[in-house]
Amino acid sequence: MQNLVASDYAVQISNLEKRFTRRDSAEVSRAIDDVSFAVPRGSFFTLLGPSGCGKTTTLRCLAGLETADGGEISMNGQSVYSAAGHRDITPDARPIAMVPQSYGIWPHMKVFDNAAFPLRYGRKTYPPAERKRRVLAMLEQVGLSEYADRWSTQLSGGQQQRLALARALLCEPEVLLLDEPLSNLDAKLRSQLRAELRAFQQEFGVTTIYVTHDQGEALAMSDTIVVMNRGRIEQIGTPSEIYDAPSSRFVADFVGSANLVPGVVDRPMPSGTRVVDAKTALGTVRCERFSTPPRPPVAGQEMSVCIRPEHIRVAAGAPESGGPNRFPGRVVTAEYLGDRQEVVVTVGDVTLRAHADAHLNARAGDDVTVALDPAWTVALWS
Ligand code: ATP
Repeated sequence: MQNLVASDYAVQISNLEKRFTRRDSAEVSRAIDDVSFAVPRGSFFTLLGPSGCGKTTTLRCLAGLETADGGEISMNGQSVYSAAGHRDITPDARPIAMVPQSYGIWPHMKVFDNAAFPLRYGRKTYPPAERKRRVLAMLEQVGLSEYADRWSTQLSGGQQQRLALARALLCEPEVLLLDEPLSNLDAKLRSQLRAELRAFQQEFGVTTIYVTHDQGEALAMSDTIVVMNRGRIEQIGTPSEIYDAPSSRFVADFVGSANLVPGVVDRPMPSGTRVVDAKTALGTVRCERFSTPPRPPVAGQEMSVCIRPEHIRVAAGAPESGGPNRFPGRVVTAEYLGDRQEVVVTVGDVTLRAHADAHLNARAGDDVTVALDPAWTVALWS
């Protein structure tokens, strides 16, 4: 990503702000606050975060459905919104198509007419024969050709979702904006359609900005994830960067499951070092992963240690010798899941969740050795 130049980005937003005034009081809330990111052309780019963190507002500002209160947005190198330049291009003049959460399918129209709508009245219109050819080809691609003459209300949830996607793609947008498009579907269909959606995105090569609060969806589908919290960006990275090297307690906790143990930096860190020793209630924990701290950490500085359950090894019996990252623990609960045992252990007052070997046969009350893999132990500064 570092080697890209401005023209490699389909969308760039910088220092975007949006405030809302509550109707029942004069209170002003910042829905998005100083949000900046750049979306590489052709990529699948996800805004992930809990309800109310500002994902939809960001998407609506991109679409031009909401006017921001500050910052800049450009698409294909052209400014579409600039607070300083008093520019705010209307939604229909932006090179985007948006699929809202509710799909926005018209119930009084047949499937064909729903899909054909943008080619009749949109940015780029076509004569009837060409329109028909394009719509039928697209319906074929999304597996809906046999439904072309049905009323759209006769489609299942998954089929409606495909129709909404077909209609958006027929607009030939530079950027496709998808707001929680799978949230109305049941769990099985969601996982089937997320694979389909990703395959369509790759096939069409359309830059896609996807909003979800589902971390599993974000990890499975995205090239890049932006994790948002309370209107601000917590971290931007690839799915594995976000999962393996979260930069804050919030990200560690929101994406996947994490053990978070508060501590302090044990010794001053020489500059350029890639190891932090932390003093925690477990004992000394060595962390070989961390994001660049805001300032060089000093001994005694508060921090947290983060380790995923799959990077904690649990062995029968108390440890024969101590040492960093090896601690005596006691099993609280153990569940056999076929491929592993999910074990909850206590080390002193600290409770840890670990994925142990399926054949460990751990039982509540067993003494065990708990080992945190330093290569996967992350030091968090906030
Ligand atoms: P969800 O996943 O629940 O849709 P979200 O992350 O998309 O949440 P937004 O809908 O962007 O969050 O809302 C961000 C904040 O802005 C919330 O606190 C919300 O209450 C507030 N907000 C959004 N739209 C408005 C509005 N039209 N008027 C007042 N406040 C609003």
